[in-house]
Amino acid sequence: MERVDPPNLFEPTEEHVMLRKSIREFVRKEVEPQALEYDRSERFNLELFRKLGSLGLLGITVGEEYGGSAMGALAVSIVHEELSASDPGFCLAYLAHALLCANNISVNGSEEQKKKYLPGLSSGELIGAMGMSEPDAGTDVLGMKTTAVKKGKHYTINGRKMWITNGTLDEGQTPCDVLLLYARTTSSKKPTSQISSFIVDKQMEGFSVGQKLLDKTGMRASNTAELCFDDCKVPVDNLVGQEGESVKHMMRNLEIERVGLAAMSIGIARRALEVMITYANERKAFGKELNRFGQIQSYIGESYAEYKAAKCYLYHIASHLDLTQSGSRIDSDGVKLFAAPVAKRIADRAIQVLGGYGYVGEYVVERLWRDAKLLEIGGGTLEAHQKNITKDITRLETLKFL
Ligand SMILES: Cc1cc2nc3c(=O)[nH]c(=O)nc-3n(C[C@H](O)[C@H](O)[C@H](O)COP(=O)(O)OP(=O)(O)OC[C@H]3O[C@@H](n4cnc5c(N)ncnc54)[C@H](O)[C@@H]3O)c2cc1C
Repeated sequence: MERVDPPNLFEPTEEHVMLRKSIREFVRKEVEPQALEYDRSERFNLELFRKLGSLGLLGITVGEEYGGSAMGALAVSIVHEELSASDPGFCLAYLAHALLCANNISVNGSEEQKKKYLPGLSSGELIGAMGMSEPDAGTDVLGMKTTAVKKGKHYTINGRKMWITNGTLDEGQTPCDVLLLYARTTSSKKPTSQISSFIVDKQMEGFSVGQKLLDKTGMRASNTAELCFDDCKVPVDNLVGQEGESVKHMMRNLEIERVGLAAMSIGIARRALEVMITYANERKAFGKELNRFGQIQSYIGESYAEYKAAKCYLYHIASHLDLTQSGSRIDSDGVKLFAAPVAKRIADRAIQVLGGYGYVGEYVVERLWRDAKLLEIGGGTLEAHQKNITKDITRLETLKFL
């Protein structure tokens, strides 16, 4: 029988091959040279970010009729892996814009909302963010306190959102252009039917930045902000879907978010591994290269195997994920639960292999290590993933995993 080559798991089509090639080139020329500086100064490179629009990446999952590229979860994984291999902070801002905001509107918004917001979000004219977490509600997201009360043609929104990536575009004066906001409405008594979502424009009365959050451990090239809603007036036309149905939107969007965050982990792991191997090949101690020492070999060997396992899990899941459906939470949580600690561990081993050089910014791995920590917290903590997987898996009728 004639042998048929299986499709390449990481780039199954010519389109994916081209995508990886072009983004890698962009990263080499434009992202890498600025990464250290923006991390050090805790600034978001808005000018560079807008260039992702001309590459068709800002509306990566958005339909072509709204200016997007209509690509799926596998393409999303490629872009996040490549950006994050250089600048995870910049990539986190990209994730907040493209997945948390634009994709959410694209999947759940009305025709009018899509026409109004998606072309600007896809080109980079508008910068998006998503507000779910609050000062007192993170993992316990249904405990959110921000309220939206309908009065005539408006909802009046009151509350605070915390930790919002892209929440401000500068040092805290200017909010994002478009915010996908979750808030509590009260037409139902059931907590899961009380969450609604709204599209908030930056010029809407009562919407402001509380503060830009400074001195983060990592992801310093993305802006994180507290956002305030003080009798904020949002037109009823900006309600996404029906009142009370946004837990469904949230769950669906969290799946692609977690796949994106897992892809960021793979990018970090790959870069740290490359740095570690190059250094171990070049640096000599006791008259031989570091790669000849057994303990260094265990760092390299373990890291490679963990990286490859995480990458295969990611691309396998990404090739099956349907952005318009939920139902893949076991694996979207599973892959992030596995990949985030892998990224942190490999970055840690890379620092160890480089010794003192690993501990300074120029050699990149200390930044990757700081950035990797966020992936164990943001978009769901490791403990939240363990909880979700167990909840979903124990409900399965048959335990058939293959
Ligand atoms: C840099 C950064 C960017 C972010 N960007 C955004 C954004 O753009 N939009 C947004 O909405 N949010 C964003 N977040 C918020 C992020 O999603 C939350 O930080 C995360 O969900 C955890 O919530 P928390 O910080 O309130 O911690 P908590 O939920 O209070 O958790 C504290 C600890 O308790 C544990 N815990 C909580 N409940 C349980 C339980 N049932 N069982 C076991 N352990 C439990 C947690 O796992 C954790 O270890 C961002 C956060 C950071 C740091």
